[in-house]
Amino acid sequence: MTTIHVWHCGQVYVDQALAFREKLLHPAPYTGILRPKSKKNWVPVSTYLIQHQKGNILIDTGWSEEIRTSPKKHLGWFSHALFKAKLLPGQSVREQLYAIGLRPKDLDIVLLSHLHVDHVSGIKDLIDSSKFLTSAIEWKSANKDVGYNRSMWQDVPIQTFEMETIPFGPYNKGIDLFQEGTVYLVFTPGHSKGLFSVMVKTDGGWVLIVSDVAYAERSWKESIIPGITSNAEEALRSLQWVQQFSLRDDCRCILANHDPTIKPHIIT
Ligand SMILES: [Zn+2]
Repeated sequence: MTTIHVWHCGQVYVDQALAFREKLLHPAPYTGILRPKSKKNWVPVSTYLIQHQKGNILIDTGWSEEIRTSPKKHLGWFSHALFKAKLLPGQSVREQLYAIGLRPKDLDIVLLSHLHVDHVSGIKDLIDSSKFLTSAIEWKSANKDVGYNRSMWQDVPIQTFEMETIPFGPYNKGIDLFQEGTVYLVFTPGHSKGLFSVMVKTDGGWVLIVSDVAYAERSWKESIIPGITSNAEEALRSLQWVQQFSLRDDCRCILANHDPTIKPHIIT
């Protein structure tokens, strides 16, 4: 039996244009600069623990505990100028693991859907985990492109995977994590170059964890791509695949990382 814990490991205060691309004269509304407060919201930063017969898998890390004491140092000036971050007591991924009797060393794999700050911030709080894994495409991009804070993963042994052909996804690329068809990492680029989603098989059907391919059900129903993209065409193609997937009889639910309507819960 597979159990999925959906956790909020903090919140981030962002302009809504960062989530839902707007057609405006403003050159970069997602920065929140010169934008009214009414356009800004606190949204969750989610993390997922999958208790699978092959081991404990964590997807993304949420905010580091360091955000509570030194946000500017932790985020770096670029991200600190773009967002505000909040991490309430008991919300860090380490604290939520402890609350269910686990420690970072009990994690068999920490999957990093992509390496933007709100997905890798807590990585050093999890340094005792067995393995950190992201896509080779994301790794290469994150180590040279803007929009990343490389100090977050400095000295962390992140492993990478190469895309293979799989029966799912907008490009039919990804990997079958355990080679048994129960967990797929699906190449869904566009928000970042190497972003992947995760499909988890449960008794009630597939749970599709889409990270930042989408921000809410509205994203795929109305084809609204994220405000920040590495490639808008790819972002749309990935979003359209999510839309098609949502119509499958065996699709149990779709979880977007920053969707405020998704509360922390457990899927059994
Ligand atoms: Zn994000």
